[in-house]
Amino acid sequence: MSYQYNFSAGPAMIPKEVMLQAQHEFLNFNETGISVMEMSHRSKEYLPIVEKAEKNLRNLLNIPNNYKVIFLQGGAITQNFMVPMNLLSNRSASYVVSGYWSKRTYNDAQPFGTIKLAASSEPNNFKKVPSFESWNFDNNDAYVHFCQNETVHGAEYFDTFKIPEVPLVCDMSSTILSRPVNIDDYGVIYAGAQKNIGPSGLTIVIVRDDLLSFADQKTPSTLNWKIQSENNSMINTPTTFSIYMAGLVFEWLLDLGGLKKIEELNIKKSNYLYSFIDADDFYINDIEIKNRSRMNVPFRMVNDDLTKKFVATAEEKGLYALKGHRVVGGLRASLYNAMPFDGVESVSYTHLTLPTTPYV
Ligand SMILES: *Cc1c(COP(=O)(O)O)cnc(C)c1O
Repeated sequence: MSYQYNFSAGPAMIPKEVMLQAQHEFLNFNETGISVMEMSHRSKEYLPIVEKAEKNLRNLLNIPNNYKVIFLQGGAITQNFMVPMNLLSNRSASYVVSGYWSKRTYNDAQPFGTIKLAASSEPNNFKKVPSFESWNFDNNDAYVHFCQNETVHGAEYFDTFKIPEVPLVCDMSSTILSRPVNIDDYGVIYAGAQKNIGPSGLTIVIVRDDLLSFADQKTPSTLNWKIQSENNSMINTPTTFSIYMAGLVFEWLLDLGGLKKIEELNIKKSNYLYSFIDADDFYINDIEIKNRSRMNVPFRMVNDDLTKKFVATAEEKGLYALKGHRVVGGLRASLYNAMPFDGVESVSYTHLTLPTTPYV
C-alpha cells in the first residue's frame, strides 16, 4: 500500500518539488561530488547554503535588521526552558494557556522563576483561545508568552497584538510561514521545523537584538541565544541537512509568490474542510469559529466505531495519519503549506465510501 497524501501533524509532509530537488542533489551537491550531509558546517561549500536560507527567510517574513535569526536544535520544547533562561533575569513572566502545547510550556517554565498565568481557556476545554483583552500581565514582566496555534486542539489566534511595554514571545511551531505576520509586534518568535518548514531537528528562533542581554549567567553556550547568534548558530555543529532542506522550502515558497499567496491557498483549503465538516451532524468540530485553526483541523464522528472506520477507509484510499492526537482522540487533518488542495478534497471523498450508518 502506498500513501498519496500525508496529513501528519509533524514531522509533516514536505513539498514534492523540494523532495525531488533534494533527491537530485543528494549524492552530488552543486558538482562538489559530495552530499550536503557530509560537508563541514564551516566549509566554503556549506556556508552559502545557510546564508541563503537566512536571507530567504528574512525576505519571506520581512524580518527587520534589528532581529537575529538563530538556527538551533532541541525542538520547540527546548525553548520552554531556553526562553526563561535567556529572558527572565530574576523578573516575572506571564503565560497564556490556550491548549496542550502552551500548557506544557507554562508548566515547563515554572522552575525558572515567577511564572504567572495570564489567561487560560482550559475551563472551556480549549474550545476558544483567551481573548487578548482577557490577558492579565504586568508591565514589569520580562515577557508575555503565547502559542499562535494549538496543534493538538486546533485553535488559532488570528489577532495582531500590540504590547509596546512587554516583549511578546510566541510559539509559532505550526503556523510559521502559513501567513504574513508583523515581526515588529514580537520580541521573540520560535518554531520547530517539522511542521511547516522541513525535517525535524531544526528549531528557528527570531529574536529582537535588545533582548539578547538578559541570559542567566549559568546558561550553557549552546542554549544561549546571544552566544549562538554571535557565532552564526555555530557554537557547535548545527543541523546542517535540516537547514539545507529548510532553505529549499523557503525558495519554494518564494517561487510560489510568498506568504500572501500561501495564506490564500491555506484559507481555501481549511474553508473547504470546515464546510465539509459542518455540512452534516456526522462530523463535529466545536472550536469557536473565529479561532478555528487553518493548519490543524481536528474533528470527531458521532461515535468511536465510525472514527476507526473512517481512519481505516482513509488509509485504504492512501491518506496517511488522519488519526487524532492521543490527548483528544478523533481525527485530525493537518493542512500545512505543502498539502495541495486535492489532498483536502480527498478527505471528503472518504466520506462517500462509509456505510450510511444511523447517527447514534
Ligand atoms: C509540535 C509542537 C511543539 C513541540 O515541538 P518539538 O519540536 O517536538 O519540541 C511545541 N509547540 C507547538 C505549537 C507544536 O506544534
